[in-house]
Amino acid sequence: MTKWVYNFGDGSAEGEASMKNLLGGKGANLAEMSNLGLPVPPGFTITTEVCTSYYDNDNTYPADLADQVAASIKVIEETVGAKFGDEENPLLVSVRSGARVSMPGMMDTVLNLGLNDVTVKALAKQSGDERFAYDSYRRFIQMYSDVVLGVDHYLFEELLEIHKEENGFTLDTELEAEDWKELSAAFKAKAEDELGRPFPQDVNEQLWGAIDAVFGSWMIERAFVYRRLHNIPHTWGTAVNVQSMVFGNMGDDCATGVAFTRDPSTGENTYYGEYLINAQGEDVVAGIRTPQNLTKASRIAAGSDMPSMEESMPEVYGQLADVFQKLEAHYRDMQDIEFTVQKQKLWILQTRSGKRTAPAALKIAVEMVHDDIISKDEALLRVDPGALDQLLHPTLDPDAARDVLTKGLPASPGAASGKVVFTADEAEILSKNGEDVILVRIETSPEDIHGMHAARGILTSRGGMTSHAAVVARGMGRPCVSGAGSLHINMAEQTITVDGRVINNHDIITIDGGNGEVMAGKVATIKPELGGHFGELMAWADDKRELKVRTNAETPLDASAAREFGAEGIGLCRTEHMFFDATRIINVRQMIMSSDEEGRRAALDKLLPDQRSDFVELFTIMKGLPVTVRLLDPPLHEFLPHKEEDFVDVANAMGVDMAFLKRRAEELHEFNPMLGHRGCRLGISFPEIYEMQARAIIEAALEVSKTLGEAVIPEIMVPLVGSAKELEILKELIIKTADEIIEASGEKLEYMVGTMIELPRAALQAGEIANHAEFFSFGTNDLTQTTYGISRDDSARFLDDYLKADIYDQDPFVSLDQDGVGELVKIGVERGRNTRNDLKVGICGEHGGDPASVEFCHRNGLDYVSCSPYRVPIARLAAAQAVLRK
Ligand code: ADP
Ligand code: MG
Ligand code: MG
Repeated sequence: MTKWVYNFGDGSAEGEASMKNLLGGKGANLAEMSNLGLPVPPGFTITTEVCTSYYDNDNTYPADLADQVAASIKVIEETVGAKFGDEENPLLVSVRSGARVSMPGMMDTVLNLGLNDVTVKALAKQSGDERFAYDSYRRFIQMYSDVVLGVDHYLFEELLEIHKEENGFTLDTELEAEDWKELSAAFKAKAEDELGRPFPQDVNEQLWGAIDAVFGSWMIERAFVYRRLHNIPHTWGTAVNVQSMVFGNMGDDCATGVAFTRDPSTGENTYYGEYLINAQGEDVVAGIRTPQNLTKASRIAAGSDMPSMEESMPEVYGQLADVFQKLEAHYRDMQDIEFTVQKQKLWILQTRSGKRTAPAALKIAVEMVHDDIISKDEALLRVDPGALDQLLHPTLDPDAARDVLTKGLPASPGAASGKVVFTADEAEILSKNGEDVILVRIETSPEDIHGMHAARGILTSRGGMTSHAAVVARGMGRPCVSGAGSLHINMAEQTITVDGRVINNHDIITIDGGNGEVMAGKVATIKPELGGHFGELMAWADDKRELKVRTNAETPLDASAAREFGAEGIGLCRTEHMFFDATRIINVRQMIMSSDEEGRRAALDKLLPDQRSDFVELFTIMKGLPVTVRLLDPPLHEFLPHKEEDFVDVANAMGVDMAFLKRRAEELHEFNPMLGHRGCRLGISFPEIYEMQARAIIEAALEVSKTLGEAVIPEIMVPLVGSAKELEILKELIIKTADEIIEASGEKLEYMVGTMIELPRAALQAGEIANHAEFFSFGTNDLTQTTYGISRDDSARFLDDYLKADIYDQDPFVSLDQDGVGELVKIGVERGRNTRNDLKVGICGEHGGDPASVEFCHRNGLDYVSCSPYRVPIARLAAAQAVLRK
């Protein structure tokens, strides 16, 4: 026989905290608190297995469930000394849902179940308080009708409002017994009206109706959506808790409230909470009355003259404070507690680990280590790496006023204010003059990179979370709001219109990339604190982790930010970004447009000093660390001129006519450039490009090692290799170039040549490729695109359908697809190391900063992950957690 029902209360329980999977979070903790001897109203939990069985068997219950529930009701009856449905001494219960993790969207709680026209009279008589009894009854009718029977609660609130108005009442507390009696009759009639049948009077019908409603709510749309967003499997199911009622609404010596054992927004070690006198649970959250502060200190801080619980009920407050200490010490974490006081007696109705902001999580974890409550390892596991993002970017001062214009997608965290500009060039010009700008575009393209870099923040009216703007902004650590669809951006007139308001060129706006808000004017920001608790936790993470963490960076600004965030080298320096600079693009275009090697070499000669000086700057910042430089990767046409005047400039510089240039531009056109003439294919066709780049890298490294006495270790990386032969040819070219330069210099310089693994064929051929590669770097962005056959730039259109249909459980461009793409990574590592056992292996896609992907890299023996500068701390913590989870 399966045990479907577990009793708790009265100093003991059949379950315990470790049984969350079976009993749900609420049920397991009610059991645990009972075992601890805390005052928990007795009750029982119907297990999550019943939920699963219910759905596996066409919405029917196991045959013996009804008997087990009846037996447990009996146990409560005996403990409490009352009988369910009894005409003289009725037992009332609450029915509460409770999944493994707390889940908004699930069924709301029903209180006072077991009341009907007869038991309400008994309750009145027994308590000597008719007002209380009918107040409870009308609450029950409303809640049950709303939650179980689907009658909208507002219909009842309306009746209450009318009653108050007709009788000149403003507060609920002014209503007398007669009022509530009248109202409960009216509520019942309303429910009957809406339902076309009487409100259920049979208490067992009430009970099973509520149980059905809880299990039924597991599969409703909003619960479904919530689970999808939070990666909660649908198979977990929910538990149902049935618990004897205690009453916070029996008079002025009664109360109900919620409390945290520490401040959940700052993490400060002080009790924090709210309570209401003479009220039932839902009143505190429903906002019907303004709750009062729990402690005297918080009352004073809030400037309230309503007495705190510490002042109004000092004795019960003292007991509550003892419970706080006991629970926090027992669970060794900040607790979120719900309680009720019935006639000066304290009852605890719920405890769980409290949700907290990122700063609070950090402070609590570190302070608990200082206080010997938890170990450093536990502290590392307590902080969500993803949430660190909130700590690294400037954030809006929460006390500052905001004039919100609209909301888009929170594409890249952080907040920024600045003048509106509509073009990348203008962004660059204004920022060179020391002005803060927000670059506003309908959408961005690779040509806007310099402007995105110059801007404080980026705002687009189109594009999703993986749009160009979003990805690049995250990479650069620029705040970005994307897809703010209600903005009408008029590029010609340089205006933004939103809801009838017009924002002009150079007007100041503020964006909050953390929540997607776009605001008029400047809103004050506060700077993050990187030392203190943050620095301490990071140091513990560094001690623990085995993976190295590098950064993807090509500009001095990003490189130094990354070093500050603890990067141990550069894992990906994209050389093409250096080409987009306004003064260089002309040379790049000349190189591309040349139809022969001679022409290309002439242009490359002009590019060489620029490229070398970029590397000198970068290597100086990264001295002592490895720097992986990827040779030119994108299809050449990305650099083509667009505007007529650009064509004219190039024609003049090259001394050729326009017709020739236009023809050449057409020749370079590709139907599917992502799969076209790019990556090492350029190196094969135009070896002089890679030759120039290798020269720039080696010369820069030599120069830096000479001036600083400390070099970087350049790792020259060939992109998009698909067969060993490609790499063999290009490696020979690189080595020949590099060795000649080194020899001529008379110095010594260590360098490496390796490749990206970003095509499925490369992963499969890794054994052959490793013959020529000293390192592999998995380019998981392209590897994901080519494995799925999906373009990152076009996937936004259908990705949502795929997520909704549960075909993908997450965006594969955000979190590495461990089953498919991950399998290729595994194969690549294994085959590569079989050939060359000291092969250095890393990953440099967007995934390098995603905690789950970092854990995958750790498990599969990679040497390092590389991610955008602002994600470096996330990766450091995630890498430490990966060790601890093993
Ligand atoms: P949620 O998960 O939404 O917090 P709960 O099941 O915790 O829902 O119920 C909400 C509130 O209802 C509780 O905080 C408590 O105040 C009240 N409540 C629930 N069960 C009881 C009970 N047996 N006696 C008194 N109040 C209760
Ligand atoms: Mg609760
Ligand atoms: Mg690539």
